[in-house]
Amino acid sequence: MADYAKPLPRQEVPELTQPFWDAATRHELLIPRCRPCNRYFWYPRPACPHCLREDWEWAKVSGRGRLHTYTVVRQPQNPNFQGDVPYAYAVVQLDEGVRMISNIVDCPIPDGLQVDMPLVATFDDVTPEWTLVKFKPA
Ligand SMILES: [Zn+2]
Repeated sequence: MADYAKPLPRQEVPELTQPFWDAATRHELLIPRCRPCNRYFWYPRPACPHCLREDWEWAKVSGRGRLHTYTVVRQPQNPNFQGDVPYAYAVVQLDEGVRMISNIVDCPIPDGLQVDMPLVATFDDVTPEWTLVKFKPA
């Protein structure tokens, strides 16, 4: 979309990560889950980091988690983010145990942020093809 000037995701291995992005456009959050050891992991990769087996599936998760840590960006490196400052660059720990990098939205920045606050995924349809997974207070 011509009026979206920020960078879009660039998949290094689309055949590995496309299901995540397809789910995001449906406003669903999918995370890899290992079939043999039943554990979740993030980011997507060929082998489970817990047991090293290559037998895993995409599992739909609740999108619920907690704010693990964050920083507040006031001087973005990319000028296309200037209109967003201050914004939260955060590590979110999902209830399933994995940690994702994302943004916290629908929340006063920085005063509304507190480590361990409950969060829930929200989906930002930035172009017809791309939806970004962000988090907001639960
Ligand atoms: Zn495993």
